This record gives sequence, C-alpha cells and structure tokens, in this order.
Amino acid sequence: MTLDSDLIVMAGPCSAESEHQIMRVAEEVKGAGAKYLRGGAWKPRTKGGDWEGYKKEALQWLQKARRQFDLKIVTEILGPADSDMTFREAIDLFLQHEVDLFQVGARNAQNQELLNALGEARVPVLLKNGMNTTLAEWYGSASRLAQDRTMLCARGKNNETDIARNGQDIATIAKLVNDGKYPIIFDPSHIAGKRELVYDITIGAVAMGVDGLIVEVHYDPIASRTDSRQAITPEQFRHLMTSAYAARHMHLEQRVAKERFAHASIPQHVDIYLRPESDADVRSVLGDITTKEYPPQKKTKILWARVPSNSVQRLEANGFTTGKLFYYHEGDRDPSAEGANLNSTGSREIHISPYSGEALKATGRKLGPASEGRDRVEYVNGFPGDRVRDTFLTVQLRVPQVNLDRLVLYRPFKE
Ligand code: PEP
Ligand code: MN
Repeated sequence: MTLDSDLIVMAGPCSAESEHQIMRVAEEVKGAGAKYLRGGAWKPRTKGGDWEGYKKEALQWLQKARRQFDLKIVTEILGPADSDMTFREAIDLFLQHEVDLFQVGARNAQNQELLNALGEARVPVLLKNGMNTTLAEWYGSASRLAQDRTMLCARGKNNETDIARNGQDIATIAKLVNDGKYPIIFDPSHIAGKRELVYDITIGAVAMGVDGLIVEVHYDPIASRTDSRQAITPEQFRHLMTSAYAARHMHLEQRVAKERFAHASIPQHVDIYLRPESDADVRSVLGDITTKEYPPQKKTKILWARVPSNSVQRLEANGFTTGKLFYYHEGDRDPSAEGANLNSTGSREIHISPYSGEALKATGRKLGPASEGRDRVEYVNGFPGDRVRDTFLTVQLRVPQVNLDRLVLYRPFKE
C-alpha cells in the first residue's frame, strides 16, 4: 500500500518541545504519509507544578512546520490561556496560528463552556472520549460541536491495570464504526501507554474500520518531556504505517463480506402465552417446532414460550385465533397499557383495548387514579407481570364469540 491511502493519519510528539524537534518530526511523519502533525502546546497535566507546555511559542513552531511540510496541525485547546481571555479569544489565537483541528482532550471531554465555544465558532474539532465517559455522554458532548467538522478520538478509559494505560474495549470501536456518525480517529499511544503495544492495537483497529490514527512519535522517545513511555521512533512509525495501510486495504476489500454479514437474515421469533387450560392443544400443534420455554412469571401462572414466527401461521391453520399483543406506548414499554389485534379465523382483525374497567372489576382489581371510568387504563396498581391474564379477560368480555380455549396471544420478539 502506498502513501495515498485514505487513512487520516496524524502523528507527532506528545508535546512541542522546540522548533528543531517539531521540524524534524514533521519531516519524518510527512515522509511516512501523515496528513496532520500533532504536538501539544498547552499540556493538560495530572499533577500541579508539572511543566505545562511552551504554549504560544509552540503554536509558532507548529505553524512554521505546517507551511514548510504542507501538513495540517492538530493541537489541544484547554481553554482561555489566561484569566482575562475569553474562550473566543483563545480560539482566535489558535486560528491566527493556522491550527486546522482543535483537539479536546480526555480531561475536557465534558467541558460544556469549551465545547459550546468551539461549536459556536464552527471550528473543526477532534473530540476525545473522557477518562470515564459513556458512549452516550461522548455523543452528547459532540452534539455541542459542528456536526460536519467533528471527529471522535478513541483514547481508552482509565482502568487502573498495569497492562495498558487506558483500556479500550473493542466493542465500542465496532459500535462507533457501525454508527458512522463521525469519522473515528484511533489513538493507540494513550491506550497502550507502552510503545511495544502500539503496533498490534493499531492494526486491530484499522482492520475494524476506524477512519484514522493519531500516534505519538519522537526521534528520541526516552528524552520526550511527556508520555515518553509510549512514544515510538520515526522508524517504528514507518513500519507501523506500512502495515496500517495494508490493513486498511484489507478492510476496504472486505466491505462486501461485512455488508452481507450485516444483512444476513436470522430466524425471527415470537413469544406466545400458554394458558394451563389450553396449552396441551397448542403444544400438540407446535409438535416438532423447537420452543424455548420459560417458567411462570412471578405472581402469575402464565407460561410462555419463544417459538419461530411461522408457528403463528401453523396455529391459525389449525383453527386457533391468534392475537398480536402490542404496547400502546411503544418506546416506554409500559406493560400496563397493551393492546391486542385478534387475527380472527375469518381474517377480520378485531382491535381490542385491554384492561377495560370491566375486566379489571371482574377480578376485583383497583384501577389507577387516572383511569377510572375509561375503557383503557394507563396503569394498574399492584399487578406487575399480570398483563396477559388481563388481556385474555378483556377478550372474553369484549369479544364474546371468540373461543378462549382456541386463542393464542403472542408478542413479536425484538432483540
Ligand atoms: C495527548 O494527546 O497528549 C493527551 C493529553 O491526550 P488525552 O487527552 O487523551 O490524555
Ligand atoms: Mn500524550
């Protein structure tokens, strides 16, 4: 594979340490195919008193390298550089130095003021996940930014093991890639924390389909002022890129198989309710069909079984009336408000309201306060898990011609 791979490669030192260092690393990473040069000007530090970067001076070095090597610049913005600066002025300072991509680091991943200011300025942002944020929180932070100018950077989470510095679970990478909401930039350096692990985890992520990489590179890793343990040399970076481009190529070639995997059909199932009065009849019709049975639900005698969807047709062909249960409030899955569509044997659909006041009163039950006097109640006090019996009761009261012994209610099973 060649340097014109479509992988978005970002590389450079953790911190910009001198003009010489930036120029030297820029030349090296450019030669290996990087499109962005990284380098921290303002460094977030865990401990107070530690060196915090060359700040404005570092922006000048980055700008110089940008022009000389035709690289884009990605660097972290922490916020206003001093107390009488606004967020907007901090952003403008970066723009004056031709910063192409504003990195928001793990420690600022939920900094609402910073994110809002970047969103209002509509500047391109590389948003890292927080030290311990959920995917929903990460997407929530991203929603403050310009959608079409945002990339997400997966940098693992604080997991306090001594293997990798920040654990990155690969299911999250798969989910981010499949969601396809933002380009995903993978940060093997901060995940690994150790240079010898950078190679393998990079190749794994590229094979999974991430859109790009951000890698810490330094020609003298041990002398690196920050994150020295995870920096790789330019030579290592070249080898890494050779494999990364090959893995990217393989990933693209396998897109068809991935599509086919995603669209392959899997057998669908429904959950049917078996009442003691009629379950022997139902079972005899199901016969050889594989069923997965569940014990009675708490507080009720209702049995249920998961069966392939075509069992419904089989039951209908054998003279059963079937009824599809649904929630009135799809989404909140409030089990106290269900409906049933009866697919009657004459193919006429009867739509019934469950939990009619009558049905409930027939069993001496109490209605929820909001529902007295109505046909349908929004909730029922004190009968969790009891819904199906109520629905059968409603059928009995509302549709007297239906033979309850020949009625099977089912619910589509959704994963
Ligand atoms: C960095 O990129 O050097 C950095 C500080 O990363 P993070 O915010 O992921 O810790
Ligand atoms: Mn770093």
